[in-house]
Amino acid sequence: MTTLADVKTYLNYINGSWVPSTTEQVCASINPAYKNEIVGYVQTSDKEDLDKAVAVAKQAQVSWRKLSAPARGEFLFKIANAIEARIDEIAETMTKEMGKTFPEAKGETARGVAILRYYAGEGMRKVGDVIPSTDSEALMFTSRVPLGVVGVITPWNFPVAIPIWKMAPALVYGNSVVFKPAQETAVTAAKIIECFDEAGLPNGVVNMVTGKGTVIGQGISDHPDINGITFTGSDSVGKRVGQAALARGAKYQLEMGGKNPVIVTVDADLDLAVEATISGGLRSTGQKCTATSRVIVQKEIYNEFKEKLVAKVSEITVGDGLHEGIWMGPCASESQQNTVLSYIEKGINEGATVLYGAKKLEGPEFEDGFYVEPTLFEDVTPNMTIAQEEIFGPVLALIKVDSIEEALQVANDVQFGLSASIFTTNIGNMLSFINDIEAGLVRINAESAGVELQAPFGGMKQSSSHSREQGQAAIEFFTSIKTVFVKG
Ligand code: NAD
Repeated sequence: MTTLADVKTYLNYINGSWVPSTTEQVCASINPAYKNEIVGYVQTSDKEDLDKAVAVAKQAQVSWRKLSAPARGEFLFKIANAIEARIDEIAETMTKEMGKTFPEAKGETARGVAILRYYAGEGMRKVGDVIPSTDSEALMFTSRVPLGVVGVITPWNFPVAIPIWKMAPALVYGNSVVFKPAQETAVTAAKIIECFDEAGLPNGVVNMVTGKGTVIGQGISDHPDINGITFTGSDSVGKRVGQAALARGAKYQLEMGGKNPVIVTVDADLDLAVEATISGGLRSTGQKCTATSRVIVQKEIYNEFKEKLVAKVSEITVGDGLHEGIWMGPCASESQQNTVLSYIEKGINEGATVLYGAKKLEGPEFEDGFYVEPTLFEDVTPNMTIAQEEIFGPVLALIKVDSIEEALQVANDVQFGLSASIFTTNIGNMLSFINDIEAGLVRINAESAGVELQAPFGGMKQSSSHSREQGQAAIEFFTSIKTVFVKG
């Protein structure tokens, strides 16, 4: 156990230096498995700190954009190597800050390394097209230019992968960055930025300012010198960020919530469907934007599926994610635990039946952490709160349906459209699903959570502002197109 004397204070990173906030205020980052353990102190910054970071980012971008894209990519390779060398330490910090198990945290950190290498390579790819002109003496082509300074605002649930999948393309396409991580995971963020620093990026190209969302996040959204904002987080905050950016004509990209369904049809491989429902719904304590949240099952196989599901869920081991053999960690914070418990209460009050769990985990090994049992509800109707709103916790709602048509109708009857999966061996069902499901990520015989890093990622409806992250799709957000007409 860390003693108070060991607790380190992490600083902002501005213009290549680690500096305290002008407020001289810090906030404690807490281990959700042991609420009295402080992982580190992070700066509670204000607008003055942000202004400094934006000013240096603006200046640094002028020469950064002039460096060739392959040369910018070389820096990303160096950052990847620096993170890889510290992978266990970074993963452990992540587990301590937000509770996901160590193997998952290590997998996420490895993913961050792979994303950096992918975008390092993207620095060598063509970025424009030659377009035939009606003037035979002219050359017409498109070229890409960076936006300028990009503001990166991220949540706590993927504290390494999400910042990296935003910062890596931002940098390789010639932008400078002002990064504001979630305050809950700002120590993990600082360790990632230490690796950026180690790679020797020119001063001011990447800056990190930690603080409250309402101060630093809002400040980024409103800042006249920030040309693009890439945000991942909740639906309500995302809408505010989008409105502020729109009002001043800045480019923005919002990735927000989900209420992701899995459909299980009569012809499905039920063991596979059970495994994927549990992994997609309860890994990371259900705190993934792509987590399965609604389980829509055809009536003929409902009882068999349910029994298998309950049997498997009852095997889940819950505890500190740093301990071996633990499958599910705590909720990331006390407020997250309270939100989950309040949704469970709403489910019960609105008439759903508890099939498994539904309680805070108490007792000697749990009393120090923010634990909730993995929870299954049945007799859920599509209009209940637990079938409509994002819970962001280890709670699954089972909904029984008569047909694939009804399953699709229920699956689509929510405001979100991030990820959706179906378990079926029938090609007709697969095609209906591909054609009619309202989701940006469509998964057949695979869990709802997870998409490979080279593929476009993003949602439909209120899950997203409809631009895409990851893979080659990222260039659309992080650059503007110039159409060039040359006559000699
Ligand atoms: P959040 O919206 O509370 O916070 C996200 C970030 O926004 C944090 O850095 C926060 O400090 C900042 N913020 C808060 N208020 C702000 C304001 N007024 N202006 C600007 N920034 C502000 O979300 P969270 O609780 O950190 O994360 C959970 C949410 O993230 C869930 O809704 C989840 O679905 C979503 N998420 C979405 C995706 C996706 O790709 N679609 C991925 C991961 C998480």
